[in-house]
Amino acid sequence: MSSYLITCRSCGSANRVPGEKQGIAGHCGNCRATLPPLYFEPQQVNDENFDAFLAGYSGPIIAEFWAPW
Ligand SMILES: [Zn+2]
Repeated sequence: MSSYLITCRSCGSANRVPGEKQGIAGHCGNCRATLPPLYFEPQQVNDENFDAFLAGYSGPIIAEFWAPW
């Protein structure tokens, strides 16, 4: 599986994160600061878990809203 680079907001170091760690918050290998969890695939949220997902995620979010009507 692929890996991705996450830049630490505390020290600026690049951290390689394996793709299988999707959704898991890690720690910077340089300063041990918490790295935000990454999602490599779209996450489906609804009106019950939308606020909690946003509150628990510190990274950028692209949202697509739709309705069946
Ligand atoms: Zn760091």
